[in-house]
Amino acid sequence: MVTVYYGEALAAYGFGEGHPFGPDRLDAFWNAAKQSGLDRKLEVAPPVIANREELEYFHTQTYIEKLIRLSAKGSGTLDCGDTPAYPGIYESASVVAGCVLDGARRIMSGKTDRVFVPIAGLHHARRDTAAGFCAINDIGILIEGLRKEHGIKRIAYVDIDAHHGDGVFYEYEDDPDIYIADIHEDGNYLYPGTGFSSETGTGKAKGRKLNLPLTPPNVQDRDFYKAWNRIEAFLTKVRPEFFILQAGADSIFGDPITHMGLTPDAHSHATRQLCRLADEHCQGRLLVTGGGGYNRDNIAKTWCAVLEALID
Ligand SMILES: [Zn+2]
Repeated sequence: MVTVYYGEALAAYGFGEGHPFGPDRLDAFWNAAKQSGLDRKLEVAPPVIANREELEYFHTQTYIEKLIRLSAKGSGTLDCGDTPAYPGIYESASVVAGCVLDGARRIMSGKTDRVFVPIAGLHHARRDTAAGFCAINDIGILIEGLRKEHGIKRIAYVDIDAHHGDGVFYEYEDDPDIYIADIHEDGNYLYPGTGFSSETGTGKAKGRKLNLPLTPPNVQDRDFYKAWNRIEAFLTKVRPEFFILQAGADSIFGDPITHMGLTPDAHSHATRQLCRLADEHCQGRLLVTGGGGYNRDNIAKTWCAVLEALID
């Protein structure tokens, strides 16, 4: 069984009509899923809202207080300028977090096999600040939730969004139980300017992170597959107890804010291979987040390709 979260409360996380991260992203995907009949092959789950304690699994109390304050005020910025507050951003960000936590509970209790949470995968926020359109970091909240609620120790996080998942990477850079593999556009060309191949983890976690930057122009599927083979070799040795994939659609050709040239086949391949690895190592436990993606057509095609791979 595949479970997908869908509902107005989840779509509400966004920065207004006309913004690259606008509230129309969810329906861009869902309308395409319905058109191709994918919605009939899966379970649709309603959005779930996380409480403050759950947000503080990962975030500092001081930061959550700031988020609540600026959300009520409805203006101001949550970081150096990329991530503005809007009325209700605290609540809509809490829904993103609530869906991934609920998804993990469904997987861990055996109610479903795979979960897809569109809009989630806000991988830039740090414990104490927002960053790059990410008011919270639902991946960090999920990692801490898996540890706290389910006693999971070894977790593999795979990120194929065009941007380096710096919020996850640097918060777990020295954590030996969190294995990270991240394919992204070279930081010399794109925000956040990090994720170089020399960054492999620190202290006890040395060698447990894999950064694979691809250099534009003309990054194509064949470059992705080459990098992907290294990720598979890395993950096979790890034997994690839970897999998380951030399947950002902004690494597809034609995204307005990045410069990569992949097709949805890359994301489909990554999802299929992670399903296989999850079946081999951890009873199939895999939660996928939609991540970035600012070309609406690409969001539709890519997230549908991911869904199809999960259903197969
Ligand atoms: Zn991105």
